[in-house]
Parts: sequence; C-alpha cells; structure tokens
Amino acid sequence: MSRVYLTRPLPETVLTRARELFEDIEVREETAPLKIGQMRAALALYDGVLPTLGDMFSAEVFRDTENPRCKVLANFGVGYNHIDVAAAKAAGVIVTNTPGAVTDATADIAMTLILMSARRAGEGERLVRAGLWKGWHPTQMLGLHVTGKTVGIIGMGRIGQAIARRCHHGFGMDVVYFNRSQKSLDFPASRAETLLDLAAVADFVVVAVPGGTETHHMIGADLFSAMKRSAYFINIARGDVVKEVALIAALQVGRIAGAGLDVYEHEPKVPDALRVMENVTILPHLGTAALEVREAMGLMAVENLHAALSGAEPPNRVN
Ligand code: NAP
Repeated sequence: MSRVYLTRPLPETVLTRARELFEDIEVREETAPLKIGQMRAALALYDGVLPTLGDMFSAEVFRDTENPRCKVLANFGVGYNHIDVAAAKAAGVIVTNTPGAVTDATADIAMTLILMSARRAGEGERLVRAGLWKGWHPTQMLGLHVTGKTVGIIGMGRIGQAIARRCHHGFGMDVVYFNRSQKSLDFPASRAETLLDLAAVADFVVVAVPGGTETHHMIGADLFSAMKRSAYFINIARGDVVKEVALIAALQVGRIAGAGLDVYEHEPKVPDALRVMENVTILPHLGTAALEVREAMGLMAVENLHAALSGAEPPNRVN
C-alpha cells in the first residue's frame, strides 16, 4: 500500500480524488514551505510526495537521504525550479509537473498587470480609497494607451504564447519574442535576435521563461537601459530571473515607465523600494489563483503521483 504526503492543504475535489487513489494519505495543514528536516523526512517516510513552490528539494536534501523511500515528487505547478531534478534523478526519484493547467490563468494575470500598470489602476484605486479623488478632468491620471502597442515576450512557451494571443487578438498589438528555439505560431510575431533588440522596440516587456540556474538573473541593468523610457516591465515567471536591485534602480531614476510584478526575487519579501513606488503594480503571486485552475493542477499532480506509484510512465515527467 502506497503512503503519500501532500505538503499543503488542497481544494476538496483534489483531496477526494487522492483518497480514491490512495489509502494512506497525510495532508500537511501548514501553508508555509517545508523546512529542510521536513523534506528529508518526506523522502524517507513516504512512497510519493506532492510538493509545491517553496519546497526547496535541493541536491543537499537528496544527498542527506540515502536510498529514499520516495519514488516520485509530483509537483503542484508547472515551474519546478525549487527541485534539483538532476539530484532527484540520481537518487531514483521521478519528478513531474502540471503544464497546461496553468497557462490561461497565468496569461490572464499578465494582462491584468499590463493593463493595471499602463492605465495606473492601482494608483487610481488607492486615490479613491484614500478619499482624495477630486473628480474627473481631461488631464487627470493619464496613462499609456495599450491598444496597438508592441509587446515583447521573453520565453515564447505555453504561457508566452497565450499572452501573445491575447495581446494580438484582443488588443491589436504587434508581437516580438525572444526564445532559444524558433516557434511555429498561429499568430503574427517576429523573433528578436537578442534580448536587447526586443527591449528596444517593446512597449511592454513580459517575462515568461522558467526559473532555474539557466535563467537566473538573465535580466538586469543592460535590458532596462535598452528599454524605451515609456515602456513597462512585466514579470509573471519567477522573481530570480530578474536582478531585482537593477529593476529598482531603473524605476527609481525613471529609466522605464513602470513595472507590473507577480513574482519577486526573495518571495514573499517584497522590497520597500518597490512597495512605495506608485508606478509599480505588485501582486502576491496570483498567476494560477482561481479555484478551478488549482483543482485542475491538483488533479494532474495526483494522476502523476498515481501513475508513478503504479509503475506506469507518469504523463508529465520532467527528469
Ligand atoms: P514552457 O512552455 O516551458 O515555456 C518556457 C519558454 O521559455 C519556452 O518557450 C522556452 O523555449 C523558453 N526558454 C527557456 N529558457 C530560455 C532561455 N534561457 N532564454 C530564452 N528562452 C528560454 O513553460 P510555461 O508553461 O509557459 O511556463 C513558464 C514559466 O512560468 C514556468 O516555468 C513558471 O516558472 C512560470 N509560471 C508562473 C506562474 C505564476 O503564478 N506567476 C504560473 C505558472 C507558471 P526554448 O527552450 O526553446 O528556449
């Protein structure tokens, strides 16, 4: 009988399905990430674990747990940069993720950030809430018109393409993208040779690459210096893809017009410098935060867990 560990409370539909598939389940009630000792224990005591963002299964954790009982880490989420997948593989642990289930919801949050930043929605809302609004007039709180502008997408994968489609079909925008491989796309888009070429032409630079060692700090001062002064920087991917200090510096000197952020380098710590700037929209990692999306992610993760523990090939294996 397989023993499984779910590292967070999950929607009821997901728990019901998990109970149908597994007889011995432990659901951790805390919402904070696992501590290192809890991760070692998870590898040693359970056949399968369903971890998520913040559960840092590093090489050190695998090194400390020889011959782990755990055979699968079925991650809840498409991004798995918190798991050292090579170390997992060396320890005989399969890792899976939940691609696709998150795509539209995360693209919607990118659009929310584009619109909120360009149209000063956060700033306007704060004004009204503070009781300081003096009434409409022709030059009040003028923002950047979004329709017809150019979006530059860094990482034209599932989410990047869903953002691009929304920008093209919904807002008549030109699409430029930067990606390692050429993409076959069902909408018009041009591929930039370099990140700086993309930065030079985009009115909105949107980051949609995975996190991890390859993309760590791939965006820094040179990109912000290459952007138009009127442009906005949007990140829905992972915080550490961006050198946060460089972003703050660019915003503080007015090198770029503003930013819309769902993720942060040292999440959940958000620097005061970002919190005090009116032209920065900051969301608490809301990308997939809709019940049906979290249900779909959870069901996918549970099916991956079940396949791996039944000796079948899990549908969404990443290592
Ligand atoms: P995906 O389909 O794998 O797309 C990632 C894209 O990035 C691919 O097109 C990949 O293409 C490109 N890429 C990878 N490394 C690159 C590099 N060094 N330079 C340029 N392009 C690179 O993944 P997805 O489903 O769209 O998800 C993307 C990421 O979004 C996830 O990994 C996750 O971290 C993040 N995310 C955030 C939230 C949120 O709540 N805010 C929700 C879901 C996902 P090539 O390999 O050809 O370069």
